[in-house]
Formats: sequence, C-alpha cells, structure tokens
Amino acid sequence: MKLPSFWGGIHPPQNKELTVSESIVSYRPKGELVFPMSQHIGAPCAPVVAKGDRVFVGTRLGNNDAFVSAPILSSVSGTVKDVTMRLTPPGAFETCVVVEDDGKNELAPEWKPLENYQTADPKEYVKRIRDAGIVGFGGATFPTAVKLSPPPDRKIRWLIVNGVECEPYLNCDNRLMQEGTEKIVQGLALTMRLFPEAEGVIAIENNKPEAIAILKDAVAKSGLNNVTVQPLAVKYPQGAEKMLIEALTGQEFVITALPADVGCIILNVRTVYQIYSAIVEGLPAVTRVVTVTGDAVAHPKNIKAPQGTMIRELIDLCGGFKEQPVKILSGGPMMGLSMRSIDVPVVKGTSGILCLTAKSAMLKPIRACLRCGRCVEACPMGLVPTVLEPLVRARQYKRFEEEGGMNCIECGSCTYMCPANRPLTQGCRDGKASVTAMRRKAAAK
Ligand code: SF4
Ligand code: SF4
Repeated sequence: MKLPSFWGGIHPPQNKELTVSESIVSYRPKGELVFPMSQHIGAPCAPVVAKGDRVFVGTRLGNNDAFVSAPILSSVSGTVKDVTMRLTPPGAFETCVVVEDDGKNELAPEWKPLENYQTADPKEYVKRIRDAGIVGFGGATFPTAVKLSPPPDRKIRWLIVNGVECEPYLNCDNRLMQEGTEKIVQGLALTMRLFPEAEGVIAIENNKPEAIAILKDAVAKSGLNNVTVQPLAVKYPQGAEKMLIEALTGQEFVITALPADVGCIILNVRTVYQIYSAIVEGLPAVTRVVTVTGDAVAHPKNIKAPQGTMIRELIDLCGGFKEQPVKILSGGPMMGLSMRSIDVPVVKGTSGILCLTAKSAMLKPIRACLRCGRCVEACPMGLVPTVLEPLVRARQYKRFEEEGGMNCIECGSCTYMCPANRPLTQGCRDGKASVTAMRRKAAAK
C-alpha cells in the first residue's frame, strides 16, 4: 500500500540505531540550573524572581502577559542564585535565572490536578496549558495555548499529533510514544474536547513499527472512534507542518497561512503528553526527553532531564566523548543548530544533542555551483536554492523575497543534496533573518 507523503524531499541515512532501543533514563542534575527567559516563539519573558528567593518545581521564574508567550518555570526546588546574562544554546548571551537545586524536588503548592477535569469547561484546559509553560516540544516552541485558541471563524477538522520525528539520529519522540503511550492518547482525547467536530490523527513515519503498533492498540482500547494512527512514507522533511497537512488532508498549504486556516491544529507528541500531565496529574511541563547521540558519544542515550540542566552533564551521563567531536548540534543533523559550547542548558526546544566526529560530520570544501539542479529537485517548498544563496551573499534581499526565499522552512534538504557543498540552507536562514530585521525596522519608523 502506498503511504501518504508529499512532493520533493530526500532520503538521508536514518542513523537512529544508536538510541532506538535505549529506554528513557531520568537524570537528576547537580548543583545549579540555568533558565533562559526566551525559550519560545513570541514575546520573551522577564524575570519575576530575585536573587535569594526560594522556588519550587513549577514556580514561575519568568513571565510575559503578551498573547503569544509562555511562562518559564523552575524544574527543581531550591534558591535563586542569580539573575544574569548567560550563554544559551543558540550561542548568544541572554537574561537567565540561575537556581541552586536543593535536591528535594518539592512541587509548588499551587500545582494540583484540575478538579473534575473530565467535565470541566475545556477553556480551563487552555489556561492550565499556558500556566504549565507548554509549547511545541518538537522544536518549534510555539506556545500551545495560542495554537489551541484559533479565531472563532476557523472550523478545526483535524487535530494532528505529530509523531513523525523525521530528523535522522533522534529518538526522543519515538521512545516517548512507546513509554508514554496512554498519556499521549488521553492527552489527545482531552484536547479534542476543545474541538468536538475534529478528527484525531496520530501521524508516525513508517520506520517506527513499535510505536505504530503500541499506539494503534492503545487507541483501539481507549474506545476513541474518531482517532486514527496513520503511518506515513519515510521521507524527510515529512514532519514539517506543510508536508503533514498535504500528506494527511490532501490540501495544499501555503506557508504564510496558519494550519488553522485549513482546518488543522498540529501538536507534537510530547506536547500532548504534557497536556495530560498538566491537567490530570497537576504537573508543570518542566522536563523534556533529549536524545544524546552521534559517533563521538561513548554511550548514546535518551535522557529525561529537568529543563535548565547543563548539557555537559548529559554528555557525562553518556560516558563522555569516546572521540573528540568536530561538530556539536542542538537538534538533528538537518535542522539542528551548531553549538559553541556544551556549558549551556537544556531548554524547551532541546530535542537532541548530536556530537559528530570528523568522519561523520563530512566537513568538505565549498566549491562552485555545478548547475546540477539537485537542490531544486530536493526542495519540498518548490524553491530554487541555487538562485537564493547568491542573492543573499549579494545582499539583494528584495529579489530574495521575490524568489520566495521567505517560504524556506530551513529543512536542510538542499544543502544535503549539493555535491558542491554549498551552504544553501544557511544562505536562506541568513536571508530570512535580514528581511525580518528590515521589516521590523520599517514597522518601527
Ligand atoms: S531552500 Fe529551504 S525549504 Fe528548500 S530545501 Fe533548502 S532549506 Fe529546505
Ligand atoms: S545542488 Fe549545489 S551544485 Fe547543484 S545546482 Fe544546487 S547549488 Fe549548484
């Protein structure tokens, strides 16, 4: 049977075998934890605690009342050691709250299960989801409460749980689907109370047969007859919103629109898991599963760590490096961001830490374009990367926009396919950042 998919895309080596069978292990951090105030798309938070304050698991450390934002919560109990500038995973110094862990793991008294949650007004769920700091844990980090509040004239017909995890090397979602199955299904059931006319779809790439089987079984036992588990063709970037919508609903989705405009809401599997946890168990979303992997790591693992834990500690838990890495990425090899240091914290969007040796990083010299067209064939957005990159280098941003550069989803497919090793994705990333900065400047005038 032909499985649903999309136009374009690539088939990079999966390299998931390093951690595919590694059960999630929980880690208790040592000493201090660092919480950057900007961990989501939208308005960054401002600190609401001061040095010396006592905090608990779930205490609000940072907040912003803007609609598109999510609070930053403490993942441990202890004392605020400092509010200061610290290095963060993107390689920038940002305002952070530093908490000294007391090792007691005491939950803040305000955190309790939502009373009568099965019959409660589902609008209370949205408030709880915001208070719990829940964002898109697939890496996009868009605040979930905002996603679940579409304009009233948008009729939601599909509530899609994204378990695709098409990035090579990563297994954090795959393992969660197998180890947190019930909570994912029940989290979806609760979320569907917000959109009673919607159909629930749990989408998983067909290279995760265990997760597909266990979720199909759990859905069948749950009695939810409006939820299906849909295997998808194994092709990168199958998990991107545009590709998911096209594969599952057959609708074309323009990147400038919102999924809700075509009747869809898409939530990552961990996001749905945390929705269950916040409503039913009364727990804030302060941990996350991180796949620490790559051929430089002694014993790759899937680790559940409190947000704020230093990445160096997770690598130590894996036995450290067996060979010196030449490249360390936050995320997978396709969309991950190069890291300057491992002395930075796990944040809401940290899905993986990928440590590559010279052999697997394949650092090759950049050569002149061969006009082979492989980048054009690979681009799932129908762009012409070989035209876009030189436009950015020449600072021709207007032409970059006219050529559709802002539609680039930074998936990395073009760079992966380029035999001349041209930094095509980086070019588009830089172009988009420059255009966005220019638009902001123009709007501020
Ligand atoms: S141009 Fe952008 S969307 Fe197209 S393949 Fe390259 S990174 Fe992906
Ligand atoms: S894949 Fe590389 S070499 Fe081929 S056309 Fe694109 S930029 Fe040029």
